[in-house]
Amino acid sequence: MLATFIRYPDLLSRYKKTASNLSVINGLQSITPVIVTAIEQLTSRQDLYSLTLMSWLKVFDSAELLLKPSCAWCPYCYQAWREQGQVIYIPLLWLIEYVKFCPQHQISLENTCPSCNQKMLNFCQPGYCSHCGEWLGQTKYPLKLTTYFRSMGCLSTYQRNISYLQELIAITPYLSKQPQIKDVYSYLHEHCVHLDEQGLKDLSFSFWMSSHLIAKPQSSDTACKPRISLHFLSEVFRCFNITPCQLFL
Ligand SMILES: [Zn+2]
Ligand SMILES: [Zn+2]
Repeated sequence: MLATFIRYPDLLSRYKKTASNLSVINGLQSITPVIVTAIEQLTSRQDLYSLTLMSWLKVFDSAELLLKPSCAWCPYCYQAWREQGQVIYIPLLWLIEYVKFCPQHQISLENTCPSCNQKMLNFCQPGYCSHCGEWLGQTKYPLKLTTYFRSMGCLSTYQRNISYLQELIAITPYLSKQPQIKDVYSYLHEHCVHLDEQGLKDLSFSFWMSSHLIAKPQSSDTACKPRISLHFLSEVFRCFNITPCQLFL
């Protein structure tokens, strides 16, 4: 996550009604590259973009990959990092609305200080409450995640999507060009254009078949094609048994 302690009141005020400050600086808002570029110039660094989701701006629908309105954290990760003398930071993954549990410790991500019961301000020092200053790390027992999902299938889908998200974030610094939605459609075109109806069914693609995305794969007009959801992209990875690396690197 790109730290949000640098304030851009003029820029942020325009987006106040539609997105949290976290989304504006770390997310998929059209203003995000402007802010990140400004911070890169101020800090003489060229790699800060990879702390944000901005590289995926032309793939994901911003309404589908929301960031949380305030910081979330895994208390176990904080505690472990402190005991191991590691840097305390806020991984971008924790801020994505879809992500409810720490994938490593299987506990809920928290967003309220256990000492003062307040949500974090977005301008905070990682690991400490922005209100009372208390340390937020704590060891906890893992949850039985199956009780939080309707079925094992739903849990598997969630865990698969989380691993895709982790990989998408991890490969960001190594992208040779900004990923485009046409990369996804080109892949679909290449792998679906020769398939008949049964072939598509074999790929578990049946729910897409009426979609213009598959029905007209020969169309080269990507301008009218919408950006996609995490679920859509995850289904591409799953159906073709590929990883984000294989599609975008
Ligand atoms: Zn954790
Ligand atoms: Zn507190």
